[in-house]
Amino acid sequence: MKPYLANFRFYEELNDFLVPEWHKQTIEYRFDGRPAIKDPIEVLGVPHSEIDLILVNNESVGFEYQLQHGDRVAVYPVFESLDISPLQHLRARPLRVTRFMVDVNLGKLARRLRMLGFDTAYNNRLGDAEVVDTAIREKRIILTRDRRLLFRKAVTHGYWVRSDDPATQLEEVLRRLDLGAQVRPLQRCIECNGLIESVEREQVWAELKPLTRRYYSEFYRCRDCRRVYWEGSHVEHMSDAIRQMMENSG
Ligand SMILES: [Zn+2]
Repeated sequence: MKPYLANFRFYEELNDFLVPEWHKQTIEYRFDGRPAIKDPIEVLGVPHSEIDLILVNNESVGFEYQLQHGDRVAVYPVFESLDISPLQHLRARPLRVTRFMVDVNLGKLARRLRMLGFDTAYNNRLGDAEVVDTAIREKRIILTRDRRLLFRKAVTHGYWVRSDDPATQLEEVLRRLDLGAQVRPLQRCIECNGLIESVEREQVWAELKPLTRRYYSEFYRCRDCRRVYWEGSHVEHMSDAIRQMMENSG
């Protein structure tokens, strides 16, 4: 048996990463040597990118802190409303512009983020390393259903999408990252992420179906792939909850 013992407790949504019998429980962790505290936290299943604060015996510490016998460890996610400024934040500063790198298998989420105007890179042929490299190079927040991806050391900004239902993933991301006020429909091409611009009806007339000609008067075109949009085509599958969030954000 390993000689040393420390107690871990994880708060709020960090419990989503733990096996059920550890939810909201004090976890007894046995170890030897003096591991950096990041190691046991990740062994227990929580990616570093989700953590904002670690307290050891009520003092805030960094990921490099070496765990000692008898330590009482409390691990917190990002606080949205609580002021913890005197304490040490572990999380990287928020990126100045919200851009996303969406992992493979989240193609529907990527389309919906573009629909709401978010700069969203997505390519279902990329491997894990390429997803991470692209995110870092282009200062993008990784959205993934694969929590192992967030354990990669290089990841600075990432979010594990809890829901596996495309219909609720968009709402989850908007709420958890507090993005309601940044929604700008009719900015991005749903297919290619290019910027779209307003065009005269005459410029796209030949490409429209008769019913579209009859019911719509404002049209847009993607600068990159030339796809034509109008309001009805652009806001497909938008749930009432999203509409409400957009209305509340003004
Ligand atoms: Zn396009």
